[in-house]
Amino acid sequence: MANHTAHSTYEKLCTHAREVAILNSTQSLLGWDERTKLPPAGGEYRAEQMSYLAGFTHKKLTAPEVGDWLAELADSNLAADPHSDAGADILNMRRDYDRKTKLPQALVEELAKLSVLGQQLWVEARKANDFARFRPLLERTIELKRQEAAAIGYDKEPYDALLDEFEPGAKTSEVAHALNGLREQLVPLVAAIAASPHKPNLAALHGNYPVDLQEQFGRRCSTAIGFDFNQGRLDTTNHPFCAGMGPYDVRLTTRYDAQNLSGSLFSTLHEAGHGIYDQGLRKEHYGLPTGEAVSLGIHESQSRMWENLVGRSHAFWEFFFPIAQETFRESLGHVSLDDFYFAINDVRPSLIRTESDEVTYNLHILIRFELELALINDQLKVVDLPEAWHAKYREYLGIQSPTDADGVLQDVHWSSGAFGYFPTYSLGNLYAAQFFEQAIADLGDLHGMFARGEFMPLREWLRNKIHAEGRRYPAAELGRRVTGKALSHDALMRHLRAKFSPLYDLR
Ligand code: ZN
Repeated sequence: MANHTAHSTYEKLCTHAREVAILNSTQSLLGWDERTKLPPAGGEYRAEQMSYLAGFTHKKLTAPEVGDWLAELADSNLAADPHSDAGADILNMRRDYDRKTKLPQALVEELAKLSVLGQQLWVEARKANDFARFRPLLERTIELKRQEAAAIGYDKEPYDALLDEFEPGAKTSEVAHALNGLREQLVPLVAAIAASPHKPNLAALHGNYPVDLQEQFGRRCSTAIGFDFNQGRLDTTNHPFCAGMGPYDVRLTTRYDAQNLSGSLFSTLHEAGHGIYDQGLRKEHYGLPTGEAVSLGIHESQSRMWENLVGRSHAFWEFFFPIAQETFRESLGHVSLDDFYFAINDVRPSLIRTESDEVTYNLHILIRFELELALINDQLKVVDLPEAWHAKYREYLGIQSPTDADGVLQDVHWSSGAFGYFPTYSLGNLYAAQFFEQAIADLGDLHGMFARGEFMPLREWLRNKIHAEGRRYPAAELGRRVTGKALSHDALMRHLRAKFSPLYDLR
């Protein structure tokens, strides 16, 4: 195709993508409003607004002319280098378009219906601790997910096609390899920590922590690590999240407990980490793949890095603890920095994923990944799922929930059809540790900088190496380019051992 024709086709494609971004960001704003401000009676009409917009967007995304433009561009000069801006845009738009158009309409509709029904049924089943009530719907969902995988296509495993929705380009075998390596070293580490006679005194974290002061302190920390409140907000919700709704509008939410400091603070830092990624995407590419986040795993690597590798480090608190003491004089005035540091790094096997710590968290994810993979491959029947869940908790964490409500029914993901989502949480931890090691190699003594309140060198490094790249490279390749290594459990295990061995006096 002549060059000028290719350019004008690419321009059409970009204009179309920017229009889709207007629709998507508008939905994001409606969703944010629903979860933070909407009066209870407004819910029904809001659902109508959102479902209309979702349908409208889907129609636009799958419009036949988009397929024609992509076909025209396939052999053009613009697409020749998949890592150029235009090449990466075209390649990723092709991928997204194929995923959206390969699914038969009837399957899409049944999955959407089942997802709504599933979440309602899951709430009831969890409340009644009655897995049997939820079972038929889960069985049907898994059948449909297998059909989805078949429609999308895969090389080796149906699970590849499902994982690809959240972690584009990732392969089950690679993820399993990294997670199995992690499990082999993590299970004994968790057992050793659980057996250690050294335990932190958690009393310091509980006390009088006025919500307005917590908010002030959370904003101060988020600003220090580089979240820009001139193009962002922090509000209150039940379930913290981060949502972008424009190139200059990224919103965080958190929740507060007036008797506890750490819950809110670390979820604020976590969401701020997501927000810093979104704020670091190239504004002029907003709506195009080169202005979008790579994957859920990479997104989570940013939130986990700021929450755990930075926010739970001793160096971070060398700088912030005196400020926290001044802010919460009554509760922290008599607590030492080291006691506080140990308390925010308490590790113990527990039943609930969302309340678990930096070390055990990955075992919760491993259990879910192994079970959902077995379900999709038909190596595990849904009827046997609750007992399989308990068996894995006994094996990996040494504990068992007395109920299914706090066992297999604790997460919403499967009820909404989100298979392939869980591993992205652990991929985030693995990537975070690997990026962080590389950042130290490139920048020098990061911990020394943190202790002086200097967080911008790390943020700028992340911005240049990761955020500004958008979707130029798939996650695994981006990781390799930034760190020179394939993804593995090594960096995370090195970090966990270096941090927790002295705290729990392990040899
Ligand atoms: Zn997150």
